[in-house]
Amino acid sequence: MAQLNIPLEKFGSIRTPFYFYDVALLKETLSEVARLEKAHHFDVHYAVKANVNDRILEIINEAGLGADCVSGNEVSRVIGIGFPSEKVVFAGVGKTDREIETALSHNIFGFNCESIQEVQVINSIALNNNKRANVSIRINPNVDAKTHKHITTGLEENKFGINLTDLDAVLEVIKASKGIDFKGLHFHIGSQVTDMSRFLELCSRINDVSSLLEQKGIEVEHINAGGGLGIDYHDPHKNCIPNFAEYFNVFNKNLKLKPGQKLHFELGRAIVGQCGVLVSRVLYEKAGKKKNFLILDAGMSELMRPALYQAYHLIGNLTSKSMEQNEYDVVGPICETTDSFGQNILLPKSSRGDLFAIYSAGAYGQVLSNRYNLRDVPEVIYSDRI
Ligand SMILES: *Cc1c(COP(=O)(O)O)cnc(C)c1O
Repeated sequence: MAQLNIPLEKFGSIRTPFYFYDVALLKETLSEVARLEKAHHFDVHYAVKANVNDRILEIINEAGLGADCVSGNEVSRVIGIGFPSEKVVFAGVGKTDREIETALSHNIFGFNCESIQEVQVINSIALNNNKRANVSIRINPNVDAKTHKHITTGLEENKFGINLTDLDAVLEVIKASKGIDFKGLHFHIGSQVTDMSRFLELCSRINDVSSLLEQKGIEVEHINAGGGLGIDYHDPHKNCIPNFAEYFNVFNKNLKLKPGQKLHFELGRAIVGQCGVLVSRVLYEKAGKKKNFLILDAGMSELMRPALYQAYHLIGNLTSKSMEQNEYDVVGPICETTDSFGQNILLPKSSRGDLFAIYSAGAYGQVLSNRYNLRDVPEVIYSDRI
């Protein structure tokens, strides 16, 4: 059984706060993804924005996954790491001319285009550079991911993708664009999706759009179903590897692929989320009028998710031996009221100096860290190089 290992005995001399990555768990997660990818003949791209650490990218590249990028710098980074350019896709609603040129210069697998105007711009940049751009169109499927509203992307009110009402118009533009080769369809409904019925609905929407294009005599070589598979933030120990088999099965059973069509995925959180832990120390215990506060030396500058989308992370005291349980608000040192990791958390009696783990911090953790309050950049520790 895979598990998350925290080598507490080696943490003593490391200055907190720091990010810890369990490399063995990451590798096991990747081998499960690679196994299923092979069995189903899918192509899985790692959504790079979830964690861009070189070491993590190297390990993911070694596992044979492609890369899904949302900026020109991400494209350059993964190419620099050694990802084969034919496995790199580039999405995002606001690609700059320079980013498009960068991606074209690396001959990436393709662009996932999010507006009619973007298709036109990519075409003219490709022609100016004597290149051809492989383009898939990102369709807004109007499927509710039933996740937090700040990480929902596939509804008509979201800025992402092209609405079906604009499908004919975008296909016209593509047809008239000499610098563009149409490759297929792209979708992404949102992140931290745990209800498989959401992906089932996505499948049926993809089937509809795909048939629509078939009726129009347009060949769709590639279908990209995006990412979004959620992780268990409540029990990262028990479910340290997400249920990829169940997820892929939804698509395998319900998506009607035509002969020769290739199905792609872009998973971020599900791949790197559980292998990362933010380790911090208690600076102070403070008994408030209504609350007991534990003030940690990590805050929203290291892990922004709770402040950004009221995200839940399991918090554990790694060192207390106390049998007494207390309720605490676990907060950071930053001058913001939202700088809190959790309210009314039941924990063993905790004291100044205790080491704390904030679990499931591998995705959208370190990448979102910043130097607000001129904070130090946290150290990064890998389990196999400690
Ligand atoms: C962020 C993103 C993903 C990955 O989402 P996860 O929830 O981390 O799997 C995939 N595709 C696109 C286009 C994205 O923007």
